[in-house]
Amino acid sequence: MAMKLPKIDKIVNLKQFENGFKPALLEIAKKVINKLREDKNSEIKENEIIDLIAKDYAKFENLCTKNLINATGVVVHTNLGRSPISKEIIEKITPLISSYSNLEYDIDGGKRGDRYGFTSYLFKLMLGCQDALIVNNNAAAVFLVLNTYAKDKEVIVSRGELVEIGGSFRIPEVMASSGCLLKEVGTTNKTRLSDYENAINENTNVILKVHKSNYDIVGFSGETSIEDISNLAKKSNLISYYDLGSAYVNELPFNLGKDEKSLKKVLQSGVDLVSFSGDKLFGSTQCGIILGKKELIDKLKQNQLLRMLRVDKITLSILNETIKAYLNKEYKLIKPLNQIYKNVNELEILAKNVAKNIKFKTQIKSTKTFIGGGSLPNTPYPSIALAFLGNANTLEQEFRQKGIIGRIEEGKFILDFRSIYEDEIPNLINKINEVNGE
Ligand SMILES: *Cc1c(COP(=O)(O)O)cnc(C)c1O
Repeated sequence: MAMKLPKIDKIVNLKQFENGFKPALLEIAKKVINKLREDKNSEIKENEIIDLIAKDYAKFENLCTKNLINATGVVVHTNLGRSPISKEIIEKITPLISSYSNLEYDIDGGKRGDRYGFTSYLFKLMLGCQDALIVNNNAAAVFLVLNTYAKDKEVIVSRGELVEIGGSFRIPEVMASSGCLLKEVGTTNKTRLSDYENAINENTNVILKVHKSNYDIVGFSGETSIEDISNLAKKSNLISYYDLGSAYVNELPFNLGKDEKSLKKVLQSGVDLVSFSGDKLFGSTQCGIILGKKELIDKLKQNQLLRMLRVDKITLSILNETIKAYLNKEYKLIKPLNQIYKNVNELEILAKNVAKNIKFKTQIKSTKTFIGGGSLPNTPYPSIALAFLGNANTLEQEFRQKGIIGRIEEGKFILDFRSIYEDEIPNLINKINEVNGE
């Protein structure tokens, strides 16, 4: 029996798809209809076919990059794009990136210039370091430093710091692929200065310290400070390098930085090179920032690999504006930072406002959250949440489908306001009211 299948043109022009992305819609409609034709399914009705297409199209829509409301409480959330960039910074960089610029051009000399010159100047101004180099991310920074300074040479690192960061960044594997030889010292829970000292031989070039970004070793434990490592390296004519992971510039609120050194203090330790991610606590865009001694950075710049790891004008422009915001004390422009400093009363006002504008029954709840992104893994700080009555798993899933990512705590679905930006509140209220609930 011949089947009557709907015309694809007709489907893509249906009112329910009017805001859809036509090229994907066409492809999906074709696939569904071809499949029905192969299956010789003659019973199916036109509205059922349209439903099948709509279902596949909904999957495509969740694949599209779209805004989510981060109600997990984790401000620097690697799965949700880490550090958001403020609209003000985007406005400032728009003219620079939508036209030509002196990205790599020396205006005074009329010749090729230094791509990293301005960023380096700003970092010197902010932190008093000698020089700076920017690469694609911190993983690339670690790779470049080790490849430049320790190819076929030994790098000493503590057994307690052979970390794996989410998304398969493993220090031993990165070290191996950079061509250096890993020399593990100490034990999982304790590494003394003498352990480093005893491991030095004529093939050693670098002493590496790695920040234990996403775990702590507690109990009978001890690590060697970056000061001691830097001094030992100096005495032994080696290079000291600190993979700091995340980094913060100013004193942190809620006593968060009590066991951590600010970037300035790390640099004051005398370490030769330090690197960290641009989009963790530093609050800028994805990049790897390497700071340290000028002659060492000069040599990094000569490594051919830099050509593969280099960043473009968009990254550098956003980073430059972030550093300028630090220098001008315009902390409002650095979104994650601003969010971390909010006191709980401010968060509670936002939560109450949401609670009274939605159809769900909720309770305001004091809670604790973490900064995230490999910063201060065992240091919770206060937050405020809205807890929803009803089945937590069902609510979590329904909210997720509306683009609101919350979390489940003590058996309840909650929205944690530490990571919700104030300008998202009206949108949040609208979206919650679109959720069916049970
Ligand atoms: C996060 C992190 C990295 C990886 O940084 P990316 O910018 O994500 O590449 C490397 N080392 C440490 C210690 C980290 O915390």
